[in-house]
Amino acid sequence: MSSFLATDAPPLYVQVAVSLPLYQTFTYRVPEHLREKGRGVRGDRVLVSFGGRRLTGYVVGPAPATPGKGVPEVKDLLEVLDEAPVVTEEIFRLTRWLADYYCAGWGEVLRTALPALGRGRRAPLWKLSEAGEEALAAGAVRKGLRRGILEILSEHREGLTAGQTARQLDGHPESSIRPALRHLARQGWVEVRNLPARWRTRPTLLAELVQPPEELEEEKLKRRAPRQWELLRLLLKTPSLRLDALPAGLRGGPLRALTAKGWVRVQEATGAGDGSKDRAKPSPLRPTPHQTQAFGPIAESLRQGGFQAFLLHGVTASGKTELYLRAIEQVLADGKGVIVLVPEIALTPQLLGRFRERFGEQVVELHSDLSDPERYRGWRCAASGEVPIVVGARSAIFTPVPRLGLIVVDEEHEPSYKQEESPRYHARDVALIRGRFAGATVILGSATPSLESYWNGRKGKYHYLSMPKRVENRPLPSVSIVDMRKEASSEGILSKPLKEALEERLRRKEQSLLFLNRRGFASALLCRDCGHVAQCPHCAVSLTFHLQAACLRCHYCGHRAPGPKTCPGCAGVRLDRRGLGTQRVEETVQRLFPEAAVGRMDRDTTRARGAHRRILDRLARGEVDILIGTQMIAKGHDYPAITLVGVISADISLNMPDFRAAERTFQLLTQVAGRAGRGSGPGEVFLQTYRPDHYCIRFARTQDYDGFCRQELEFRRELRYPPFSRLARLRVESGDAEMAKEFVGRLADAMIKILPAGVAEVMGPSPGVFPKLQNRYRWQILLKASTPKLLLQALRMGSELTEGRLRPPSKVRFGVDVDPVELF
Ligand code: ADP
Ligand code: ZN
Repeated sequence: MSSFLATDAPPLYVQVAVSLPLYQTFTYRVPEHLREKGRGVRGDRVLVSFGGRRLTGYVVGPAPATPGKGVPEVKDLLEVLDEAPVVTEEIFRLTRWLADYYCAGWGEVLRTALPALGRGRRAPLWKLSEAGEEALAAGAVRKGLRRGILEILSEHREGLTAGQTARQLDGHPESSIRPALRHLARQGWVEVRNLPARWRTRPTLLAELVQPPEELEEEKLKRRAPRQWELLRLLLKTPSLRLDALPAGLRGGPLRALTAKGWVRVQEATGAGDGSKDRAKPSPLRPTPHQTQAFGPIAESLRQGGFQAFLLHGVTASGKTELYLRAIEQVLADGKGVIVLVPEIALTPQLLGRFRERFGEQVVELHSDLSDPERYRGWRCAASGEVPIVVGARSAIFTPVPRLGLIVVDEEHEPSYKQEESPRYHARDVALIRGRFAGATVILGSATPSLESYWNGRKGKYHYLSMPKRVENRPLPSVSIVDMRKEASSEGILSKPLKEALEERLRRKEQSLLFLNRRGFASALLCRDCGHVAQCPHCAVSLTFHLQAACLRCHYCGHRAPGPKTCPGCAGVRLDRRGLGTQRVEETVQRLFPEAAVGRMDRDTTRARGAHRRILDRLARGEVDILIGTQMIAKGHDYPAITLVGVISADISLNMPDFRAAERTFQLLTQVAGRAGRGSGPGEVFLQTYRPDHYCIRFARTQDYDGFCRQELEFRRELRYPPFSRLARLRVESGDAEMAKEFVGRLADAMIKILPAGVAEVMGPSPGVFPKLQNRYRWQILLKASTPKLLLQALRMGSELTEGRLRPPSKVRFGVDVDPVELF
């Protein structure tokens, strides 16, 4: 890596940012044996002893030759952790900016920015043997832990340690895994190996066309076995394809059938770096007029170089992904690199497949579904420029891709781009800063941009591009609103129209999705007769019902009201604060349709790694008639056989005590609706709600995003919420209820006193939406300022307090969240 600062002589003393939420850096001495090797220089990741602990730190530069008087004895660096420095100048600059902006420690940000160390794994590695593979295929072990182990090992051909196996099989302690592994080893089904010095990567399997069939045969295939034919067509276009890039539905039966006919064979790739790296393939698709129009300015920006931001607003299936691929082609042709951010990569195997299909081995994925060594290796490949395209989740934005030409942030509105632990950064916003520093083009893409981005687009801060039509003019699905107030079913799960629509799909052998917002906690009080939900008179957010105190509270400003016995809107008594879970929905559906194959995808059913994929594969193979799920099913998937989407309750998210509740709901509804009718058949969506008159629901019915935004922006402007202001949240947590309350009260009072007029407004203190979570009492203060600069000023004044006379007691945890996304 060329961009590291060359130093003449290795310094004797260095400044180290330790991975703690601390602002300052600390001085350490570089011991002789490291200096000799030229290690312990800027960019090195090191091990240091700090306050009696061993911590990871980052050498940020030389320190004054002799530490000053009164300085306690300077300690030695204990170890340098990587073979070469890992922090580039660009990443130093970016992380420094982040630490300042998000009020986080520099070392803490650097830790987030770098992959965990991938070396030194010495534990024995367990692998599936050939006999084990046969046993698995033959069904020799039907169920139980041993079957689970064999399945997991068959997915991880490179082998796993016992600990890793245990983690994959959530719920089984390592102590029960080991005997099972030993048992399987005695049967000859697994092998144990000590890890070679360099850990191995999973072999890449390729499907290769050996000999294309006669035309007549192909015709026959087309009529009799459409999926085999589809696979064959793919291979005729690209004679050698990675198995993991193939659509899930083609990887199994169709592939085996073609292999049996002798037309195709499966082979292990000979490995990267030996010239087998396939080159990018040009797009086989002719761009639509809207794609052409949108691509023009992007291509121009890429040609010119330099920072420019685009907001690509395209309805679901308008061909945004296709456009990214085109832009990437151009960047690669210029010999530059690309970072593509996706919200949750594990949920989007299809997207990755498309990247692989187009760019083969030039893509590296970086996300939490990989083991540490895998991620470390991937990161190295990207950092060295060996592989020019990085596709990854949030933290991939820190990959030191050399000559960065393009950053794509797909689904830019997704809340998961915000890290909900320190450093609380927003990957989309970091992407824009990174783009600015690197002089790269940034594309933010979404069918439903965040209001912030939409506003920036309107103001001309971003170049706004619109793709309002689906590819091939496929119609958007039709959306029907079901007024649940008029439904007889007291359960509020399946209305009559939705039930009938499901029946019809079962008859027609088409697939359906039923969507339930995961955050089904019972916080808002909803009247089942009139749909009324209590709102804060000051903040226009839903009030949160607190069971213990039987009261309603606003967790922005602290407003408090007694919990009503009857509905203030209609005097009805059917006030509901029960939550709905996917499991309850599944039970109901299964009871109503005993003959249907019902699947469920939520946090519970997807704990184990690879579980998402297994469920989606079943869906793709047509083994599921009705899939019930949370947000996880809302994203990105492209399954043409789905023609019905039912939203069980639009209210759960609409009633969230968050000023973004309507925005979130609109985005979710559009997103799930986008799953319907992606094939040639039209899609239908049923949206159940107790609040059919809410503007969010009305605009969702016609999928009128612009209409929604206009109204939503009015509301935001009136109450001075983002994008018309900036927020920060001061978070206070403690196991001691009194201490938390007392400290947050003093802090709020002091903030109000010291903040000059016009700097920032102090809202609260107020309890969190979950006032007590994991035995910790939670409070917050919101700061609202009209510009980022004023907000920063307020935060600086706040931190002077908390680092000075208002230092939090040791039992109180205090933290800052700048530009908060989830307000609880
Ligand atoms: P989005 O990312 O907006 O949801 P995609 O890029 O996934 O849209 O496109 C939706 C579908 O249309 C995909 O199956 C894609 O292969 C196809 N598609 C995209 N662009 C074109 C085009 N120009 N011609 C034909 N099909 C296209
Ligand atoms: Zn309020």
